[in-house]
This record gives sequence, structure tokens and C-alpha cells, in this order.
Amino acid sequence: MSGLLLSDISKKFGSVTAVTDINLEIPDGRFVSFLGPSGCGKTTLLRLIAGLETATTGRIMLDNEDLTDRPTHNRNIGMVFQSLALFPHLSVGENITYSQRIRGIDKAARKRRAEELLELVRLPGVADRNIAQLSGGQRQRVAIARALNLEPKLFLLDEPLSALDAKLREDMQVELRMLQERLAITTIVVTHDQREAMTMSDEVVVMSTARIQQMGPPLEIYRNPASAFVAEFIGTSNLIKARLDSGSTCVIAGRPCQTSGAPDQLGAGASVIVSIRPEDVHVYPESRDGANQLDGVVTFVRDVGASVETFVECDGLQIIAMATPKERPDVHKGEKVKVELPAESCVVLKA
Ligand code: ATP
Repeated sequence: MSGLLLSDISKKFGSVTAVTDINLEIPDGRFVSFLGPSGCGKTTLLRLIAGLETATTGRIMLDNEDLTDRPTHNRNIGMVFQSLALFPHLSVGENITYSQRIRGIDKAARKRRAEELLELVRLPGVADRNIAQLSGGQRQRVAIARALNLEPKLFLLDEPLSALDAKLREDMQVELRMLQERLAITTIVVTHDQREAMTMSDEVVVMSTARIQQMGPPLEIYRNPASAFVAEFIGTSNLIKARLDSGSTCVIAGRPCQTSGAPDQLGAGASVIVSIRPEDVHVYPESRDGANQLDGVVTFVRDVGASVETFVECDGLQIIAMATPKERPDVHKGEKVKVELPAESCVVLKA
């Protein structure tokens, strides 16, 4: 297979299992994010791929070559760390082409290469500046340029944008993705930010407690989370306690509701969680009757300009509906309402 293959990877630090049972295939040219809460093993997995840690079990293959026991400098990877690890006493250009300097490549050739890479990361003309004269976002680009200098087969980034402020961070996410598309280089990013993972990636690997919980294209995971953990970690979701009735019908707050289908292993009477995204929930005035509706009372309305969230209590359950300002429901705090949960948007998960 052309690409990266991890088979049965695990890593223990003494009695701590940092990652276990990792089987992963990343085809050439893909952009993949490792996403999960703090301590779930994302960085360890990236460091194993980089050769900065040695796996306790398993094999790592790149384009059918076994990398498992190969030292980092022979793996043909480029890395960007959260700290960036730029040399403050060297100029921008010298930082980028440091490895050529070690190999004795002459100064003019190094300068040309640095200019070429700075052009690539949209930061031309700063090769002679000091690192200290650059902004956070510019340093980020220099670190990326340096990692790409040796035309690596794999580009690995550990929380590369976490030190940037929110606006710059969002801009850099789009830029990084566009750069990766231009270069078609297999890229793995570690992040704990689901929006970042969804913006940039072809595939998201959701991890928790040392394991992969789900892997797939961002929208597929968003639409079909495999567990309540994934549903909550990718975006926000209403996770509603329910009981499975017959077929794909669930009883929610005493009312039968159709869903998109129940997992095979669950039988009638099972306790389940129904996951539905706030943007799929509709709120109507009480007089409007229809299928898959619950009775509720509005407890709060949050209007943040770009979207309006309506909080509704239905028989002890809190359900949040989100709408654009144009689709804003004509309901107010304290009012009795109908909450509609469209069947195709209700995903049934094991409780
Ligand atoms: P974060 O988002 O906080 O960086 P993470 O998902 O990247 O977390 P890891 O850094 O991979 O998680 O850590 C996974 C587990 O392995 C944690 O329990 C951590 O304490 C442990 N761990 C990681 N590196 C070491 C080490 N060198 N020695 C001992 N334990 C370690």
C-alpha cells in the first residue's frame, strides 16, 4: 500500500498505557487529524510515527517499508511542534535551511532555498530578519517552511496553531489545508479542537483513553457518531435518554419518536441515548401538531447574532435547538412549545 500503515501499535510508559490496539491506514496525500481530550494518547501516537518513541508492540510501515526500528532522521518526516523550536540566534533563512548548513551546502544556495520556501508559506522577503522580529503567525509559517525544507514524505504537526489567537488560528487552518493540497503531502495534525480538525482534514481519528474511538471523514463522523463520547466531542449534540421500543422507535419523554435506526445488538426495552444536533431540532408554537414532537417549555433563548439557540425543557429533559436568525422560532421564554425531532436526524446510541 502506498501510504502509512500502523498495525497493532501500543505504547506503555511503565504502568501507563498511552496508546493501545491502534490499527490505522492513511493513504498517500491525505490530511488526517488525531483529535481527542488531554491525555488520550494523540501526541504519543504522533511521536511513535516520528520515531521519537519506540512502540511496545506493533509495526509502522510507510510505502511498504518497515519504519518501526528506523531512527527519526532516516524516516523522511518533517515536524512542527507546539513550541515551534526555532533557533532565536539564527535568522529566518538560516532557521529554515539549518540542515543544509550542517551538511556544508553553500550560503547562496541556502538563501535561494529559504526564499523559495518563504514564498510557499506566503512570507516572502523576510529571510534576513531575526526570529524575534516576527509575529506569532509569521513564526508559525517559518516553522512550517523549515519542516518542509527537505521535502518530507510525511508532515507531522503537534498542536501547531494552539498558541495563536482565535482569528489568526482560523486563518492559518485554512492556509495550512490549502498548502497541503498544493503539495499533496501526507499530513497528520494533533489537535484537541474539533473545529480545527473538521476544517483541515480528509479524515478525523477520534481518540479517548488510549484508543481510537472512530475514524472517518469529518462530516460522516458528525452525522453518524458511533458513541455518545464522539457525538459530544465533535460539535455539540443533544444526548437524550430514551428507551428503545419496537424497530427504530424510541420513547422520549413519554412520547414515541421515530429514529434513523437502532444498532442491531439492542432489543426492545433497552436504555439508549438519542443523539440529535441542535441545528436539526425545530421549535414551534404549542398549537402546531405533528409527528415526532415533544411538549416543552422555553427556559432560555441565546441570541448571538449569527445563530439563535432555544433551550426547551421537555418532561425533565433539556433540549437545545439552533436556528439562523432568518429561521428564528417565534417563541419566548416561559412559553409552552412543540419540539420536533426529525426521525432522520435522530441517531440511536448505546446508553
Ligand atoms: P495532551 O493533549 O494533553 O498533549 P495527549 O492526548 O497528546 O495529551 P499523550 O501526551 O500522548 O496525550 O499522553 C498519553 C498518556 O501517556 C498520558 O497519560 C501521559 O501522562 C502518558 N505519557 C506520555 N508521555 C509519557 C512519558 N514520557 N512518560 C510517562 N508517561 C507518559
